[in-house]
Amino acid sequence: DEPILKVNNLHVTFSTYGGTVQAVRGVDFHLNKGETLAIVGESGCGKSVTSNAIMRLIPDPPGKITAGNIYFKGVDLTKLSEKKMRAIRGVDISMIFQDPMTALNPTLTIGTQLTEGLRQHQKVSKEKAIEKAIDIMEVVGIPNPKERLKQYPHQFSGGMRQRIVIAMALICEPELLIADEPTTALDVTIQAQILELFETIQKATGVSIILITHDLGVVAKIADRIAVMYAGKIIETGNNRDIFYQPQHPYTKGLLNSVPRLDLAGEKLEPIEGTPPDLFSPPKGCPFAARCPYVMEVCNKVFPVQTEYTDSHHVNCWLQDERAKSLLATIANE
Ligand code: SF4
Ligand code: MG
Repeated sequence: DEPILKVNNLHVTFSTYGGTVQAVRGVDFHLNKGETLAIVGESGCGKSVTSNAIMRLIPDPPGKITAGNIYFKGVDLTKLSEKKMRAIRGVDISMIFQDPMTALNPTLTIGTQLTEGLRQHQKVSKEKAIEKAIDIMEVVGIPNPKERLKQYPHQFSGGMRQRIVIAMALICEPELLIADEPTTALDVTIQAQILELFETIQKATGVSIILITHDLGVVAKIADRIAVMYAGKIIETGNNRDIFYQPQHPYTKGLLNSVPRLDLAGEKLEPIEGTPPDLFSPPKGCPFAARCPYVMEVCNKVFPVQTEYTDSHHVNCWLQDERAKSLLATIANE
């Protein structure tokens, strides 16, 4: 089957007074129907910019998609007019952000906010919209939906508010749901419940999900595949088992070492030392070289090509690539 989403060679820049930030530098990935892909990396790695680009929510200026294609069901979103994109946004592709409060209007009832998108995009009657709102509130686990429709956001707990935001994103029955750090603002128990909710929703609706997070621990249970981003590039992709049991990239290994583990309670976590490179002038070689304990001469000179470690598992690291040796020889002869 054709993937529902295919991103090819995506580049996004932001112009600032200090120069041009190369926020996303040639990102490729795909998402199969009904699958959950997690995009993981530190803040500033380009993961949110990538998801905003899919939604065509990059403010231009100062932002710009400078190259690449984003195929959603075969249609290149980068080529669509804003008008056509508006018909897709919130309907075929929905997005959930980190802070539920900013997504909700404090002055409108939950019922009004839930039915707004439906009424606007699908021209359904008020009665039908309310019916659908009640259904979706049940799916996301909000008790007494009929009564609660009449209430305002401040009458709900943080976790319940995030459920409402998720319900809003789902009410038009999107095929793709993008969740950018959807649990970061919530406490740990509620986080787990919301993550479980994504699984429930996927089973109930078949929606394909992109989950953006800085926390590999969050995705361990629910991601089918994982793409690790660093300095505007994807540096390792694989299925859940590949990434958690056979990580190949030193950065991915570092991320895993900084995930709290129940079985190692009390042991000190090892965060990765150093900081990512400046994306005003990114290094031409491996962007992780300055922090990498295995750095070799070739790493500083040439960006590592993608190695197919297995069919499902790809990594951009010279340690994993036979070609590194011959490349180094070529460089030495130059
Ligand atoms: Fe480290 Fe080199 Fe691999 Fe980059 S390419 S992660 S510097 S070994
Ligand atoms: Mg972000």
